[in-house]
Amino acid sequence: MNFQNGDSVSRRLAVMNERVKYLRENNLYFYNQPVQELRGGSKVIVNGREMGMYASYSYLGLIGHPRINAAAQAAIEKYGTGTHGVRMLAGTLSIHRELEETIADFKRAEAAITYSSGYATNLTVIATLMGRGDYVLSDKLNHASIVDGCLMSGAEFRRFRHNDMDDLEKRLQQVPDGAAKLVVADAVFSMDGDVIDLPRMVELCRKYGAYLMIDEAHSVGVLGKTGRGIEEYFDLWGSVDIKMGTLSKTIPSVGGYVAGKRELIEFLRHASRAYIFSAALPPAQAAAANEAFKVILDEPWRIEKLTYNANLFINGLKAMGFDTMQTTTAIVPVLCGTDERAFALTRACQENDVFVLPVVSPAVPEGLARLRATVLASHEEDEIRRAMGVIEQAGKALGLIC
Ligand SMILES: *Cc1c(COP(=O)(O)O)cnc(C)c1O
Repeated sequence: MNFQNGDSVSRRLAVMNERVKYLRENNLYFYNQPVQELRGGSKVIVNGREMGMYASYSYLGLIGHPRINAAAQAAIEKYGTGTHGVRMLAGTLSIHRELEETIADFKRAEAAITYSSGYATNLTVIATLMGRGDYVLSDKLNHASIVDGCLMSGAEFRRFRHNDMDDLEKRLQQVPDGAAKLVVADAVFSMDGDVIDLPRMVELCRKYGAYLMIDEAHSVGVLGKTGRGIEEYFDLWGSVDIKMGTLSKTIPSVGGYVAGKRELIEFLRHASRAYIFSAALPPAQAAAANEAFKVILDEPWRIEKLTYNANLFINGLKAMGFDTMQTTTAIVPVLCGTDERAFALTRACQENDVFVLPVVSPAVPEGLARLRATVLASHEEDEIRRAMGVIEQAGKALGLIC
């Protein structure tokens, strides 16, 4: 096989490889760095150096929690490390059932189904529910897995302006009578940290007879007094038809889920291809996830501390003159503009032991490159103040703030 023959595949490879090579040669490549060690919930060893962790999705600091580790170990003792295949045939273990009941309870839903990743969940759920002739209306900043699910479904795919409910209404009005409609959005947007306007979205879905699906990857454990997510946050229990989430962020495991009405879950168990044709979650990961939901309910101080830390960080950066966009959550963008400035700010932070990563085009629109910092419940206040000091110094040196 020769990838240098000038066809479209070889050109695609060359463009990417050249971009990566250029960044590596200029000491601006920050991706795929191995974390050698985790130290508590908020520090990591990278390149042999201890750094404050500001790029984690483990918002409540649950990675390594003794109860969760113990649950995973007990599951290995009981079941071993794998299953006998896909859930529908011999792969279902009692720990899978237990996990799904825990999720249903946590989300105050009738039932829940789990898959082997959040990505696979969005792909398969949207593609199974929707099809040719149906309409999917998706927020412009939705996660890539939602976009891919919409494309795979074959439904008409319409994107509305980010968190713009007037634009959503206009697009709902354009759907022909009788066509099935699904409105889908992140609860907390993964690059911007802002919260979807659920109250108006629910109102519109009811008015136009659309199903509503919300991806809670960054809101479970983050939003709501007990961390149950967006419905708790707005006190709109029961308003979301398809409550999707991941088991890989606040929940320190891997996998994805949907919670909802019994008939929806029963349908997905018998029709969604990622459930029928892909292996079950490993028992240790199912048990870890199951225990994590319980820990969240037993240790509500974590949610309070996360909210406190997020406000400290956001308000501090704003006071220094940084543009943190519309965030009100633990995901804090620090707007830089060009990709080069985002890389330069990242380098300055990492040289001063603040482990934070840049997001550049095409993951965000050109000109909106940024640091994408996250704060955790496990950060101490003095650690956060030190990190803000580093970002301030670097921002001044680069002329981002004065
Ligand atoms: C991370 C993420 C996913 C994918 O979840 P994985 O479990 O990592 O596959 C889906 N949606 C959103 C909004 C995410 O941030």
